[in-house]
Amino acid sequence: MSAGTAPASGSNSGELLRAQVAACTRLLNMLGVLHYSGHVSARVPGKDQLYIQTRTESRAEVTPESILLVDFDGNVLEGAPGKPPSELVIHTEVYRKRPDVGAVIHNHMPLATAITMVRGRKIEIMDFHASRWAAGIPMMEEVGHIKSKADGEALAKSLGDANALLLRAHGLVLTSETAPAILVDTVHFEDNLKAMKEALSFGDDIRPITKEELARVGEYEDRSHHIRKMWNYYVGEGRKAGLLPVGWDVRL
Ligand SMILES: [Zn+2]
Repeated sequence: MSAGTAPASGSNSGELLRAQVAACTRLLNMLGVLHYSGHVSARVPGKDQLYIQTRTESRAEVTPESILLVDFDGNVLEGAPGKPPSELVIHTEVYRKRPDVGAVIHNHMPLATAITMVRGRKIEIMDFHASRWAAGIPMMEEVGHIKSKADGEALAKSLGDANALLLRAHGLVLTSETAPAILVDTVHFEDNLKAMKEALSFGDDIRPITKEELARVGEYEDRSHHIRKMWNYYVGEGRKAGLLPVGWDVRL
């Protein structure tokens, strides 16, 4: 498969997963939330394998062909020459512990990292699109990179059943069902933090959305429709900006 012939959407083929991970990586880089490090992965359904970029390739330049197929022990099965990211165990150990998770992102989002540096300040739900994290966002207290299997296991334990985990003085892990969903969730996670920061600039007595209010709004929300709409929007933006070749048919 060449860079211009990513497969049509609608299946969970390896080619489609590679293309979605590559597109998601480029788009999140375009949106300024991935930067020079940070990584997105997608699980291969039914197998102890995942797709992820190499350790060193620019997040702005990944292609479906350069995405690695890696097993949960870190062995590279397919893809361009190169090693997976040094913090691969974040992905493998979360997938092992959470069969419901189909995609993982780890990044070093400045706002998410900064809030871990303030005692007693937790992320409040200011935007109803952030309702996914209303049950709570745990934090891993240990400072440092997550490189050993034991580190990865401790991270997955800290995450528990949540869909987000803050890493103190380090960054963030989000979990979703697919690579398109992880893009949508990452955008909303940052938007919620921006809204909270802006609200706090007007005064300390902020008014988060209550659980009852979230439940009422949620009755009318269709997550799969929302993911399709936002993913297709950002794919279109990426094409207009020249960051996604038109031949990458990753629209949902
Ligand atoms: Zn990291």
